[in-house]
Amino acid sequence: MSETTLKIKLFGDPVLRKKSKQVREVTGAHRDILAKMARLMYEQSGIGLAAPQIGINETMIVVDVGSGLYKLINPQIVSSKGSQAIEEGCLSVPGVCIKVKRAKKIIVKAKDENSRAISIEAEDLLACVLQHEIDHLRGKLIVDYASFLDKLKIKNKLKELEKRLRSEKLPKQETKSCKLQL
Ligand code: ZN
Repeated sequence: MSETTLKIKLFGDPVLRKKSKQVREVTGAHRDILAKMARLMYEQSGIGLAAPQIGINETMIVVDVGSGLYKLINPQIVSSKGSQAIEEGCLSVPGVCIKVKRAKKIIVKAKDENSRAISIEAEDLLACVLQHEIDHLRGKLIVDYASFLDKLKIKNKLKELEKRLRSEKLPKQETKSCKLQL
């Protein structure tokens, strides 16, 4: 995969709705993809990115909320507590911002890029981003959390995104309506 072909898949692309497969054996190819995902995330000023967002249905995510980069393989939430609601944007749904209610504290078990088992205790923003990215691995998007009112507000935006996908046109640069891009 060359860098020029690496681009964010947008709402309407079926790859975003597929359930991702677990990685059985971590290889150099996975490390390569994770490095490219991290680069793309930083380029797009995102704080998280999941493999399906670049068209790969394998359970890999990258996250950096400012406290360091996590490259996670087969992440799983093993415990969750409390609740919080943060306005989230998504690099795959540009121009859309949805307030999503999620757990405030979670524990995630995963493998790192060297196949070592790791456990992350996360809260607040980091917990939010990890849950958002793990949702991507199950084919779930922020639009699925939209309230009735949200749905009315974003209806035209989503139609526009799907139209873009069909016309194969490159998306124009979005004005970032949401502070957090995941
Ligand atoms: Zn996202």
